[in-house]
Amino acid sequence: MAVATGTKLVYDFTEGSRDMRELLGGKGANVAEMTRVLGPDRVPAGFTITTEACVAYMEADREFPKGLEEQVEEALGRLEEAAGKRLGDASDPLLVSVRSGARESMPGMLDTVLNLGLNDDSVEGLARVTDNERFAWDSYRRFCQMFGNVCRGIAGERFEGLIKERKREAGVEQDVELGVDDLKALTESFKDLFREETGEEFPQEPRDQLRQAIRAVFDSWMGARAVEYRRINRIPDDWGTAVNVQQMVFGNKGDTSCSGVAFSRDEITGEPRPSGDFLPNAQGEDVVSGVRTPRDLHELESLMPEAYAQLMEILRELERHYADLQDTEFTVEEGRLYMLQTRNAKRPAQAAVRFAVDAVGEGLLDKADAIATIDAGRLDALLHPSFARDADYEVLAEGVAASPGAAKGAIVFTAQEAVAAAEQGRDVILVRPFTEADDVAGFHAAKGILTSEGGKASHAALVARGMGKPCVSGAGALEIDLHAKTVGADGVTLDEGDLIAIDGSAGVVTTDDVELEAPSVSDEFETVLRWADELRTLGVRANADAPEDAAKAREFGAEGIGLCRTEHMFIAVDRQPKMRAMIMAETAEDRRAALEELLPLQQGDFEGLFEEMKGLPVTIRLLDPPLHEFMPQAEEVVSDLERARIEQSGEEQELEHTLERIHSLAETNPMLGTRGVRLGILHPEIYEMQVRAILRAARAVRDRSGQAPHLEIMIPLVAYERELELMRDLVARVAREEEGAGERDLHVGTMIELPRACFVANRIAAQADFFSFGTNDLTQTALGFSRDDVEGRFLNRYIETKVVDRSPFETIDKPGVGWLVRLAAWTGREEKPELGLGICGEHGGDPDSIAFFQLAGLDYVSCSPYRVPIARVAAAQAAKAASSTS
Ligand code: PEP
Ligand code: MG
Repeated sequence: MAVATGTKLVYDFTEGSRDMRELLGGKGANVAEMTRVLGPDRVPAGFTITTEACVAYMEADREFPKGLEEQVEEALGRLEEAAGKRLGDASDPLLVSVRSGARESMPGMLDTVLNLGLNDDSVEGLARVTDNERFAWDSYRRFCQMFGNVCRGIAGERFEGLIKERKREAGVEQDVELGVDDLKALTESFKDLFREETGEEFPQEPRDQLRQAIRAVFDSWMGARAVEYRRINRIPDDWGTAVNVQQMVFGNKGDTSCSGVAFSRDEITGEPRPSGDFLPNAQGEDVVSGVRTPRDLHELESLMPEAYAQLMEILRELERHYADLQDTEFTVEEGRLYMLQTRNAKRPAQAAVRFAVDAVGEGLLDKADAIATIDAGRLDALLHPSFARDADYEVLAEGVAASPGAAKGAIVFTAQEAVAAAEQGRDVILVRPFTEADDVAGFHAAKGILTSEGGKASHAALVARGMGKPCVSGAGALEIDLHAKTVGADGVTLDEGDLIAIDGSAGVVTTDDVELEAPSVSDEFETVLRWADELRTLGVRANADAPEDAAKAREFGAEGIGLCRTEHMFIAVDRQPKMRAMIMAETAEDRRAALEELLPLQQGDFEGLFEEMKGLPVTIRLLDPPLHEFMPQAEEVVSDLERARIEQSGEEQELEHTLERIHSLAETNPMLGTRGVRLGILHPEIYEMQVRAILRAARAVRDRSGQAPHLEIMIPLVAYERELELMRDLVARVAREEEGAGERDLHVGTMIELPRACFVANRIAAQADFFSFGTNDLTQTALGFSRDDVEGRFLNRYIETKVVDRSPFETIDKPGVGWLVRLAAWTGREEKPELGLGICGEHGGDPDSIAFFQLAGLDYVSCSPYRVPIARVAAAQAAKAASSTS
């Protein structure tokens, strides 16, 4: 869409404000704001070309929009007037910087040109008026280098090579030791390189230089690294970047000049003390490029006391004005301080939490606004160990960051090996192509889990997150050979017992012995969580199946268990034979007998949970996965059978029988097969046993502690109201048989995880005390996307091609799956106003999804224990956002 004639495409810094971020980009809007707050003497003058101009330029196939050049010329005239100097003036030239500035900061991704306006004549003028020939020639050589690199794509190493050569010839080590003649010669060699590479002379006309620089900044928006950065950070391509043209001030004018970056508080720890770096006699890019080692900001106090004192005052003022931690750039030119840029600082979780607490204490923000400055998703870092911040290591493979935290240990390939190793006190990482129900014991024993297949919603990821174990899934570059017990990657072959380290927050695998940093849950974090609880209206529960997980969940502030997946209770090694006997049973009687043996074990599990939860709600879901998941793998049985036949061990018949049963239970689409309530209808005795175990456990705990558990029995995968009605009757019947438990204490509800259930939610509500949205399956069934496979298959391409902007298994697909949730919540409550509404899919721990569930009117979210603190903070943010939009 071309811009209309007469559209204002250029704004002076004195015209803009921080509210104009979309049009002027973050940098332009903040420089304008800073000019208003600090006054024009503190901020070098300039103007901003709008993002709209950039978008029009891209749409017109790299043509400047109509009127842009004229408006730039007029703004330049005003800038020359304000500066009292002219661009290209041979006696006393105005020099400008040309910088990008997108709506969201994209550090280092877009281009910048400094010292623009210098040419063979004006460099002499600059030398004369500043009485500093070295400074003038240093500025000119920098300009030739940057212009050639940024505007004409000449490789940076070519220039660096020439600098190295010159230093060798001059016999010096550092750039700053090069004399005037060296710099002159260097500038000449840069111009020669420019001619050689472009076939043109280095441009001497400053307006031509400016035109090319503006074009280069626009073009950098579509450069490969910027496109990739936007993809990762989900920044839309059609925002475009603004271009800021600003009068240069010089930090490289000698010992009373410097350039630096300053934060209004420590940006790593959040301590209320400014921090930063500076370099005397240098330009800004020297500080960030790492060519020279900068000095600590506070050393400036003794070198330039007046500028330092002014800077400290300005940092305070900017922080008060923005009510947030500021990240600034400054320059001191011959003792005079200039502020070039300010923005809200990006900060690690620790600093975010500390800032929020201090900001309330200082009266800078109220609690809700302070909590709003925290990126809830990043709080994960405070709950898990991580690779040490300055760790140096080589990446072996990358995968999906499936469960946060870092771990290292010896490679093991099976759950049994993991258990055996843990018993001997060894740290191990369980490495498998993918994991299954059988592997869960290994999760407990291992320090971390690594798979070559599967994504964020894979079995490995879900179970690992539930237990707070680090997990990298879908590391496709790894070739895991379970028979040979090797892992191959990148030409390296690792064996069982070799060291491997994973960072499940970053999705990284290495064989280096990286140092791990322990998590620190500070007093400030506790304070933030307490405030979040005062502010939020959504409840926060946890998904937990074992007493240890429930204890963890309570420690992190969960107000109940929103999902206990009972199948995890059948996986323990001592229960597998009993479970298999139950599945192998030929008749209902045989099955009942096997279930009788499982009952006390289940009862014990539930007692543990109820005791831990002390009267808080516990939502227990009856068996969900298809029975074949509890059987051994067919291939294993086949090979056992072959061996048995050779050895004539006498086990042949039993193994044949097992194999037959495995085949008879196998389904083409188990996810759509005999699971959930369908199992309950086909084999009611299984659910009966579970309900009986729940009721007996409740009674035992009540008798022991005097406190009756708050029970919620949940039926999975319901599509038809009749399914729920049948199961409700079953629960009521067992409750009658187990007299003393009393139906009154018992709530019966359902998972809502199928589209049909959403469409007929009013009918289902008639049979339910509560709904809990199972958004993992609901996403899978609404989209027809296999939750175990998409991430390793087509999802990345879907993100690249903008079909979706992130995984729908991570953040709820609001218009699609989210609509189903809204519909079911609304029609369910119409039928039954007192209907309880929760969500227990993985989305329950995702801040963006939590904001959506707040608006959809749910009562609570339930997530893995380690996400509970994040959900508490995100729920407080959601409450604030909802109250400001309503
Ligand atoms: C779900 O489907 O969202 C859910 C919570 O159940 P599960 O992940 O156990 O299928
Ligand atoms: Mg489910």
